Amino acid sequence: MPLVTMRQLLDEAAKGGYGVGAFNVNDMEQIQAIVGAAKETNSPVIIQASRGARKFAEDKYLFHLILAANELHPDVMIAMHQDHGNSFETCKSAIELGFTSVMMDGSLKEDGKTPTTFEENVEVTRKVVEYAHERGVTVEGEIGVLGGVEDGHGAGGTGLEHITDPDQAVEFAERTGVDALAIAIGTSHGAYKFNKKPDGSVLKMDVLIEIHKRLPHTHLVMHGSSSVPKELQDIVNQYGGHLKPTWGVPVEEIQLGIRNGVRKINVDTDNRLAMTGAIRKVFAETPEKFDPRDYLAPAREAMKKLVAQRMTQFGQAGHGKDYTPISIAEMAKGYASGKLDTRPSMAGAR
Ligand SMILES: [Zn+2]
Repeated sequence: MPLVTMRQLLDEAAKGGYGVGAFNVNDMEQIQAIVGAAKETNSPVIIQASRGARKFAEDKYLFHLILAANELHPDVMIAMHQDHGNSFETCKSAIELGFTSVMMDGSLKEDGKTPTTFEENVEVTRKVVEYAHERGVTVEGEIGVLGGVEDGHGAGGTGLEHITDPDQAVEFAERTGVDALAIAIGTSHGAYKFNKKPDGSVLKMDVLIEIHKRLPHTHLVMHGSSSVPKELQDIVNQYGGHLKPTWGVPVEEIQLGIRNGVRKINVDTDNRLAMTGAIRKVFAETPEKFDPRDYLAPAREAMKKLVAQRMTQFGQAGHGKDYTPISIAEMAKGYASGKLDTRPSMAGAR
């Protein structure tokens, strides 16, 4: 089967009441880990690449590695997504390359650091939606600003500085027609999200609930949703690492989000920790080893195990073969006819 669109994966997830993990990749081992976990748990999956990843892997390597995964494992539903596109040009280049989904993060200026105005965000996102939907490609937008910095992207600060305003979210969805919307409800990018053990109210769940109620057809996205488990931090530190104590988003909070309209959950940090811990362990225990396969294989296995666990926790496990893929050409027709229109004012027309 061809690569599928993120829109189709998320529409199905909404019907089934589950969430879909979106895992970041930079190299072959990470792609193998994700696809291996998807096969093992029978999950549809979103594989995403940030601008930093595309640069690191020179675009084509990454694209063809994902295509290889698709060719070797045609039974796995894979959507290929651009994470945090910073401009129309970045999104356009991803679509030209063959990505089936893009994020236009218009919450920040092209430098990926400075918050934009609401109008600037609407304008650039609407332009990307128009270009992408004509080609059947999914668009994720962002309203509100997430905390932290990752891959050089982010406004910094804590996740609580720019919480999404539900009225703005509704206006944004109406004026842009995005398929999915990343909202700021207290999460932040990177490993250092919370400096103490979070209680049951780390996320602004009331904001999420209100947005979902008012935008039932726009799929909500949680960024910065690694749980940063202590076991993974401990392995890194036990074998010579120096991570400061930190806490991520508890899985139960993510599951609460999924029950309230969250369909896409971004996870990167946890996988980085799992791989680095496994590599450090090999280096520390068997310093005589020097074949990269001796540490890349356990790193890949550690990431696969973590991804499979998240797929089960998010509920996508077991849903890999529920439906047949819709081509991007078919999706383009759906957008042109208005059938895939998510705007609140179009509710009656669907
Ligand atoms: Zn993000």
